[in-house]
Amino acid sequence: MSELLKQLNAVRRGIMFVIEAPSGTGKTTVIKRLLAEDEHLNWSVSVTTRQPREGEVNGVDYYYVSDAEYDKLLKEDAFYEYVDSQYGSRYGTLRSEVDGFINVGKDVIFDMDWDGLRQMKEKAPNDVVSIYMLPPSVKELRRRLEGRGTDSKEVIEKRMNMLLDKMQHWVEYDYVVICENPEQATKAIQRIFFAERMKRVRQTGLVEFTQRLVDEVKNG
Ligand code: 5GP
Repeated sequence: MSELLKQLNAVRRGIMFVIEAPSGTGKTTVIKRLLAEDEHLNWSVSVTTRQPREGEVNGVDYYYVSDAEYDKLLKEDAFYEYVDSQYGSRYGTLRSEVDGFINVGKDVIFDMDWDGLRQMKEKAPNDVVSIYMLPPSVKELRRRLEGRGTDSKEVIEKRMNMLLDKMQHWVEYDYVVICENPEQATKAIQRIFFAERMKRVRQTGLVEFTQRLVDEVKNG
């Protein structure tokens, strides 16, 4: 059997959908919608040393850990990827969290920055699909950041100052979606998911299926 046919016959691995956007674009809202509307999608809960924001739940939004606990995980090589954030907090993706999904063919969605994406692509180049969301304008971004009321004025200014730095990484992503509003961006991303899942190499069982068609033709 050729290498290609063997690949088609293999059990499909889960896809790692990595989504990133400048803070305030609407990424969190869109990710929540994607998860709510797609039973095949799973959320990878990251580890962070930052404090939970209002409404965030430990073990659901993040695993909130102390610096000492984070250092311990780092030492144990528990992270698939990790990053020391420019915001002073640290983030990491647990190997145990990801492998539990990917190895049994379940798709996972990640909220991580460009540095995390780079590390993920190095480890699993064929499994990672990356999407960058952009705001429709800087004015709108500021309005959204102020409107969400979770960050202090200083943090908002810091995020605005980081914007250009962060935005320049859009070229490293497979897809770019401009988020006019959460509905439109969610729909656009769902179409990306659909197309990626339909890729020939990800559709298992095609060899058997086409063989059945061939048999049908032969047997009349
Ligand atoms: P926030 O603190 O607003 O939830 O996230 C801040 C930044 O950290 C965002 O850019 C987000 O994408 C990134 N981030 C969140 N979790 C992870 C992670 O597990 N790994 C990496 N590399 N970045 C993350």
